[in-house]
Amino acid sequence: MERVSPRLRVAVQKSGRLSDKSMDLLREAGFRPVNTKNALAARVENFPVDLLFVRDDDIPTFVGNGACDFGIVGRNVLEEHALRGDDNFAVVAPLGFGKCALKIAGPKDMKYEGPASLAGLRIATTYPRLLARFLKENNVDASVVRMSGAVELAPRLHMADVICDLVSTGATLEANGLVPLDTVLESEALLVRSRRSLDPTLVHVAEMMQARIDGVLATKESKYIMMNAPESALDRICEILPGADSPTVLPLAGRKGHVAVHAVCQESVFWETLQKLKDAGASAILVLPIEKMLM
Ligand code: ATP
Ligand code: ZN
Repeated sequence: MERVSPRLRVAVQKSGRLSDKSMDLLREAGFRPVNTKNALAARVENFPVDLLFVRDDDIPTFVGNGACDFGIVGRNVLEEHALRGDDNFAVVAPLGFGKCALKIAGPKDMKYEGPASLAGLRIATTYPRLLARFLKENNVDASVVRMSGAVELAPRLHMADVICDLVSTGATLEANGLVPLDTVLESEALLVRSRRSLDPTLVHVAEMMQARIDGVLATKESKYIMMNAPESALDRICEILPGADSPTVLPLAGRKGHVAVHAVCQESVFWETLQKLKDAGASAILVLPIEKMLM
């Protein structure tokens, strides 16, 4: 019988707010999934990796019990799950998308002067454990009304006084006559990995995947910056360059005392920065995007 070689399994949300960006990230990292129309899984053709398409709520379980080696899931879902006592996973990297916050929200006319104002109220949520932790940390006695969705309707239905729900723009709250009062958790999508040991043949693939994803995340912020400058201005220029270590300094043909400075800036480069560089003596300043980076 032919031996099936092991493949790394990565859990991705099947359809929802994280799906497209998760797939984009994996593609940008050079993974080429085929048959992504298949509802359950897709093979990556150029690496021993399979993508599994599941509900986001199942991702912490699958990664925790080793059914999947990696997953992409919101911090909100991961931490709510971990509070059950199952945290057999490690966060590898925040991914910069899926940003939202778990917030307490209440009627517009409600007086709120901090968590103590929640004492004795009924709070509807789909995140009972995160909410309970928040109440405990703030020494507040309130009752948690568990729901499985449509939380923003609870006050209108007199099921609760306030809610604790995910908010990004606040439009849904507003449409329901609610305003944000406090933040329980700031969230974004995370790359997580199982703490269970990997098949030895997959260790290298897992390391490569992490390195490539780090590379993709780094290029999103980073810019390549080039300029000419008098040598005497070098110290000042290095101080101004945002998040650049050891820039390359090259002599300029035919211009004694002048150099070209090249640097990778790990932070955004703004017009103000360029103006400061110019004031310090730099000229012909170019800022270029970086397409790929492997540290
Ligand atoms: P599933 O069918 O996979 O269970 P879902 O309905 O639970 O999907 P989505 O609404 O697709 O989940 O949200 C997935 C994740 O996207 C959330 O857990 C959260 O981390 C993130 N997110 C970002 N912005 C928002 C928002 N405004 N509301 C809800 N979730 C958001
Ligand atoms: Zn879900």
